[in-house]
This record gives sequence, C-alpha cells and structure tokens, in this order.
Amino acid sequence: MSVMSADPTPLLRRRHLASFKASQVPHRFTDVLILGSGVAGLSAALAAASDPETEVLVLAKDALEETATSYAQGGVAAVLAPEETGDSIEKHIEDTLQAADGLGDPEAARVMAEEGVPRVRELCDLGAAFDRTPEGKIHFTLEGGHAFPRILHRGDTSGREIQRVLLKEVLGRPNVTLLHDTFAVDVLTQDGVAAGAMLFRPDGEIEAAWARRTILATGGSSRLYRETTNPRGATGDGVAMAFRAGAAVQDLEFIQFHPTTLYLAGADRFLITEAVRGEGGVLRDGAGNRFLHRFHPLGDLAPRDVVSRGIITAMRERGENKVYLDLSAIPPDRIRARFPRILEILKGFGIDILREAIPVRPSAHYSIGGVKTDLDARTTLPGLLAAGEVASTGLHGANRLASNSLLEGLVFGRRAGETARREAKGSPLPRPFSVPGRPPRPGPKPAALDLVDLTSSLRSLLWLKAGLERRGPDLRAALDQIGSWVPYVLGSDFQDVPSWTIQNMLLTAYLLTASAYRREESRGVHFRSDFPARNDAGWRRHSTYSREELPCL
Ligand SMILES: Cc1cc2nc3c(=O)[nH]c(=O)nc-3n(C[C@H](O)[C@H](O)[C@H](O)COP(=O)(O)OP(=O)(O)OC[C@H]3O[C@@H](n4cnc5c(N)ncnc54)[C@H](O)[C@@H]3O)c2cc1C
Repeated sequence: MSVMSADPTPLLRRRHLASFKASQVPHRFTDVLILGSGVAGLSAALAAASDPETEVLVLAKDALEETATSYAQGGVAAVLAPEETGDSIEKHIEDTLQAADGLGDPEAARVMAEEGVPRVRELCDLGAAFDRTPEGKIHFTLEGGHAFPRILHRGDTSGREIQRVLLKEVLGRPNVTLLHDTFAVDVLTQDGVAAGAMLFRPDGEIEAAWARRTILATGGSSRLYRETTNPRGATGDGVAMAFRAGAAVQDLEFIQFHPTTLYLAGADRFLITEAVRGEGGVLRDGAGNRFLHRFHPLGDLAPRDVVSRGIITAMRERGENKVYLDLSAIPPDRIRARFPRILEILKGFGIDILREAIPVRPSAHYSIGGVKTDLDARTTLPGLLAAGEVASTGLHGANRLASNSLLEGLVFGRRAGETARREAKGSPLPRPFSVPGRPPRPGPKPAALDLVDLTSSLRSLLWLKAGLERRGPDLRAALDQIGSWVPYVLGSDFQDVPSWTIQNMLLTAYLLTASAYRREESRGVHFRSDFPARNDAGWRRHSTYSREELPCL
C-alpha cells in the first residue's frame, strides 16, 4: 500500500531553506568562498591563496579538524616509486577504471593518477610523516583492487596526518580566513550565477557571504544510512545546496559500503581498515567458519562490494547480526605497529585484538556520486565549483578504488582552487540582495517535529530499503515514505542547524533513492536483486538530475 499522499515535487524544488533582508544582516565579501575544511577544501584554499591578492574564506560547520578526512585510516594511493615496485601511472589508471565497472571517466582517472604524484610529493614536503622502511624509504602498502603496493600511510591514522599538515599550511596564509562552527544554509545565486552563501553563525545570526567564486567541498552523504563509518557531518548538505541552487547532481545511487565496521551495541561504527585483511586477518561466521571463498576466488581479499554482500548473505543464512574478523594469523608485534589506533579503541570497548576476534558488519562508507563537475571542478551552475567527496567527476564510475579518494581531494581540490582563483580575477563582486521569505502557508501550523525520531527513521529506511541489496518494490516503498515526510519537513520554515540538516538529508535521500530505483541493472556497488546483471545497452550512462529535470516517479 502506498503511503504517499500528495505530489512532493514542488517542495523538492524549493529554492532556499531560509530567508534574509539584505538591510538586516551582516555581510562579508571575498574573492573565493570555500565550504569545507577537509582535504578538498584545504587543497583548494592553498591553490586559491597562492596569489597573495586573492582573498579566501574557508568555513566548516564543526571544528576545522572534524572532517571525514581526519578519520581516513588506510592511506593515499600514488605511484611514487615505479622503479622499485614495477608499477606505473598507466596501471593505476587501469585499476581505477577496472573498479569503476564501465562507468569510469578515463580522462578524470588520468588527471588523478598523473597529478596525484606531485600532489603527494608536496604533502611530504609540507611535513607529512608517512611510514618508512628501516632503510628510510617510504613504505607502500597494498589494498584491494590495486595491482601494486602504492598506498602511502601513517599507521592507521593517515587521514589525520594529511589534515594536520594541510591545516597548518592554510592557517599560515595571511590571505585566508577560516571560520569554524559556521553552517552554510544555501548557495546564493544572482542572474543564474553563484554569488556566495547564506551562513548561520555560532552566535545564532544569519550572515551573507558574497564571493566571486564559491567552491563546495562539503564531503559525502553516508550519514543518510543507519550503519555508517562516516562522522556526523556527512549529511549530504553540499548535494542538497547545489541541487536547490540549480546545479546538476549525478550517480547518487552509487554508495560504497565498507565490509568491516565494528558492531557493538552502543559503540560508534568504527571502521576496521581493509589493511587488516591485507595483513592476514580473515572473516568467520558465528560458528567460526570462513565463508568468503563461496562468493569469490579471492576470498577475504575480494572487492569490497563482494565481501560486503557475502557478509550480509552469511549473516542472513545463520540468522546472525554480525560476523567476526579474526587477527590470530597476524603476529602481535605487527598488529601493534600497523594498527595502533584500532588496538587502542577496541581496548576501550573491552576487546583485546591480540587475543579476540572483532565483531563486524558492513556499513555505508563513501558517496561515489555527487555534484556533477568537469575536470576543472566547474559544476553546471556558473560560478559554483565542487571538489572531493561532494563532487562527481565520473572518476570512480560505479565503484571507488580504496585510497583514491584522499588523492581525488588533493588533485581536484587543487584544480578547484586554481579555477576559482583564475575566474575570480575577471568577475565582479556580487551586489548584496535579499532572499525573500515564503508567504505563510494557510491552515494550521505543523506540530513540532521530533527531529531525532525522524532522522533515525530516515536512516533506518535507507539502510533497509536502499542499502547493499536493492529491489524495485523496496525502493518504491522508500520513495513513497520519503514523499510522505516531504510536506511537513520541506514544507516548513526552520531556524536551526538540526532542522536544516534533516531537510538536506531528506532531499538527498529522495534523489539517491530515485536514482537507485531508476537504474534497473546491477553495476559496481549498485546491486539490484531484481536486475542482477549489468546492462550496458540500457545503462552504461550516468544518472543526472537537476531542479528542472527532477525524476517524475
Ligand atoms: C572512517 C573512514 C576511513 C576512510 N579511509 C580512507 C582511506 O584510507 N583512504 C582514502 O582515500 N579515503 C578514505 N576515506 C574517504 C575519505 O576520507 C573521504 O572521501 C575524504 O576525506 C573526503 O574529503 P572532503 O574534503 O571531500 O570532505 P570532508 O573531509 O568530509 O570535509 C567536509 C567539510 O565540509 C564541511 N561542511 C559540510 N557541510 C557543511 C555546511 N553545510 N556548512 C559548512 N561546512 C560544511 C565540514 O564541516 C567539513 O569541514 C575514509 C573515510 C572514512 C569515513
């Protein structure tokens, strides 16, 4: 039975979440405005600020370090020592496109693999202390899908190290201003060109930030799922803001699930890096049996999506809600050296990984799709650029290769900053304008929303109906359910960050689910049990939507 009551389309096309009068709010002016302080935003900031005349404003909705970047464990892929390993740029491109399952953009993969090398060298020059061999050379590790060891890492805290060096460098630039705990509500547009953003400051005031060029570097959307490795900020704000402002979004159905996330009641879904299996860890079901060779000849080292679906199947068959990652084949000294953070965090939960297996299950990890961009980070909306996890260059196609996303942030973040700096030179500063409020709606005011309940209902819905294994009727039911929430969520006017966040989540969830419903095939991370085969004739193409071309479902 359908639960949808009215056509949600007009509210899904809502332009702004909040309003202001230009005469009543404070204003800021900058050449380049960057929303996001992770690897993409900070790389963009360094490139934009390389001209001392260019004023750059970077903002983050939480603390500057509270990014997905800071949580990355495995490392960053780059072919830095081909003569030692036999690796090459061509092979990195080949592996990237192989994972992308027919949808990867070869040019984007080339840009990433080629420019990634100097970008990672620059990181080293800035002081990033990647792990080294006893001879003092950089240590490269291997991860699933890479044909050669090409991952630079620092223990299991690689992202934190990258965030640290980039932030330190950006903080040292006199022409960059950084604001934390400042929420971007909407991208502003004037005559079809991005003009900056409407901000909500920590003191509770709306402020207008006007810019010649605006860069979205707001990260991914995996918090749309109940089970996720992502920090709480990954709520799809960038996709929702870009969509509302008129930019096209693409391939949102491709969500990568990570196979091994700590599963303990009450504990955060802490990611257990793939490198644990690379070092000899194996997955066992509740009876202690290994099961992954049933699903792929590579067993525990099969591609992420195969391992994730294998786990779900094994759990279903045995009526269990987790499997176990057994590290007993890895020498304790190796565990201490390679996985110090996992060791420490699990100790906090009473699990000694030197002796005990880790209870795990898959969870949403990476948003492959996002705001559609060209290779210079331009979106389809003039004046608006995007880079990092929020963007979709087509690089990852239908599946992302592990450790390519930090690299993507470094390469395309830099490109975004360069494009913005160049284009800002010839562009006028926007003239401030007001964003009119919507007229009050007739009828009774909606009852106060229980945001906590709604957020957890939405996240459970996506996990159950648009997760690892999808079926048309489930996706349809999810769309109807989301549609039934639209009138009182997107139809209401709010004045606080948690409410705007659920509005962003609902819009992004609708677009993601609609894309998944539409794509009647299985490709990469998108698995439809009702269409289990890849269908190149019908679907070897991107799914692209905009406000003007909202899917009519
Ligand atoms: C646990 C974990 C492990 C990972 N391991 C690896 C790995 O080993 N290798 C790899 O390559 N990738 C890894 N990834 C993926 C990788 O970390 C991310 O894809 C990448 O860091 C994203 O960088 P970003 O700059 O695009 O966004 P983020 O680093 O997420 O930064 C987003 C920024 O946008 C800001 N923001 C968001 N919305 C708003 C708003 N409305 N207003 C203002 N600011 C806003 C946030 O405050 C934040 O500053 C991992 C991810 C996770 C979660």
